[in-house]
Amino acid sequence: MRPSLRHLAAAPSAALILAAWPAAYAAAQPAAPATAPAVTAFHVDRVIVGDGTQIADAIVVVRGERITDVGPAARVRVPAGAKRLELTGYTLLPGFIDAHTHLTSIDNDGGDLAVLKETPAHGAIYATINAKKTLDAGFTTVREAGSTDYVDAVVRDAVNRGLIPGPRIHASGPALGSTGGHADVNGWSPFLAVPGTGVIVDGPDAVRKQVRTNVKYGADQIKIVATGGILSVGDAVGAAQFGMDELTAAVSEATRLGRKVMAHAHAGDGLKAAVLAGVASIEHGSLVDDEAIGFMKQKGTYLVPTLIILEEIVTDGARKGVPANSIAKATAIAGDRRTRLRAAYQAGVKFALGTDATSDIHGRNGEEFKYMVDILGATPMDAITVGTMNGATLLGIEKELGSVTAGKLADLVVVKGDPLRDISLLARVSYVMKGGVMTKQP
Ligand SMILES: [Zn+2]
Repeated sequence: MRPSLRHLAAAPSAALILAAWPAAYAAAQPAAPATAPAVTAFHVDRVIVGDGTQIADAIVVVRGERITDVGPAARVRVPAGAKRLELTGYTLLPGFIDAHTHLTSIDNDGGDLAVLKETPAHGAIYATINAKKTLDAGFTTVREAGSTDYVDAVVRDAVNRGLIPGPRIHASGPALGSTGGHADVNGWSPFLAVPGTGVIVDGPDAVRKQVRTNVKYGADQIKIVATGGILSVGDAVGAAQFGMDELTAAVSEATRLGRKVMAHAHAGDGLKAAVLAGVASIEHGSLVDDEAIGFMKQKGTYLVPTLIILEEIVTDGARKGVPANSIAKATAIAGDRRTRLRAAYQAGVKFALGTDATSDIHGRNGEEFKYMVDILGATPMDAITVGTMNGATLLGIEKELGSVTAGKLADLVVVKGDPLRDISLLARVSYVMKGGVMTKQP
């Protein structure tokens, strides 16, 4: 993640240094507004910390961009002059983390044709709209899962410069796919130059060069397409689409450059090969088998199950304009998918929340929590940990984000009611704070 100029300007340390300067020096300065950073205190019925614990009748103090105190109301001292929010009946949680989004998409559920009609400018406009919807839903951090032409990196930088509202974005740049695979666009004449939905690379050397290229142009992680998909033509969902040599090249090169790899994989040998090559997360994992579950536990690989999108393709795909072939693919595996993902979760594989937000899912990301409870059998508390601290750990930002902890950045969400009793409340957030700035309130 890149620190934003706005964050640097608001850093409490800068204000403290100014305050400590000799008066003579301060007097020589042009009338600089050396005011102390704003302090906000939330008093709520409960804080769900993000690590599986909660604090009843709690106060959270935010100074500048950071949390400075969290604890029972009887213990926490609210500084004089703080803006105090008395939120009886409310619950405060860490900002949510969606580890699988496609901010640059709006109507791509229509299938392959978008790549023939749209330009990177479309993606930039869609992403500008979707970034605000996502932040308003309480998702203060997202990991993009493949964006052609590096639009996700551009939008990330625009958010960080304060030009547009949005979550903290971890960009991928284009996903790496193989010829004829899920990131390619298939079924057209070989005499037409049809672009892929990712970048098409074959062989370890091409994979290595593309990892370097993505990092050069701003990728925070690498997305690779290891098996077939649901929304693609002519490939089985579990078919391996890269060789072990190519997957290993992707992981070793990304690791050398300080990046993690996220692998699209639904099932079979392609999923196992990605795990054994050392990817940080398996995306979808629809038909993960017992052997793969064993490998994932052994390697510490995360599973990002993207439940909402696949459920809705089955129940609502026709209305959304999803091609019949894709609905048939999703429906055929729906029952087994629920069984296998639940088996992986119950066996102790690490999970992070991811929606695969495309189409009309942007801004509805919080509905994923209920699917985790219903399909995986997660407790509401564990589902919240999956959508906060686990996501932060997967993204490598757990020291700064992912829990309501003194010293961390103040990315916070407040919902009315108790989500431990009704997890669906997380789809309707009342307050959102990002880096100490209130971005949504009733
Ligand atoms: Zn995706």
